[in-house]
Amino acid sequence: MTAKPLAAGSEIDAWCTRCRLDLGHRIVAMVDKRPKRVICLTCNTEHNYRPPRSGPVAREPRAATAERATRRASSEGSGHSSRSALRQLADWEAHVVGQAVGAFTHYSVDKEYEPGQLVLHRRFGEGYVVERVGTDKITVLFRDGPRVLVQGQR
Ligand SMILES: [Zn+2]
Repeated sequence: MTAKPLAAGSEIDAWCTRCRLDLGHRIVAMVDKRPKRVICLTCNTEHNYRPPRSGPVAREPRAATAERATRRASSEGSGHSSRSALRQLADWEAHVVGQAVGAFTHYSVDKEYEPGQLVLHRRFGEGYVVERVGTDKITVLFRDGPRVLVQGQR
């Protein structure tokens, strides 16, 4: 097939958004030498030109699939983390709720902490030290979840 220059009035294979098929269309309007508006020869619907789906250009459906997959993955992820967040909240309550105010040590980066110690953080509130991470960090469980904080910085 010789490449005949496209122009309004030419016939072209395109994806029909109504028939949902690759069908012959007639070009209604061109923009930058590309078909912009086409009219379906089967259903007579005028719509924006979409390349045939059987052709190599199929970006749109693939992007939609990827987006769905991402959404599914993130909703699974949040479901998972909300379950573990509930467990962490119960854990936090068991350690922290009902403790005397004086039982908490104000958190400061230059102090050192032991697992089980209760700390009070200016931003994160009351928490307890779950474990040491190396020599200069601790994991502290706060009401909204665990955070790794530095310790022993001088
Ligand atoms: Zn059609």
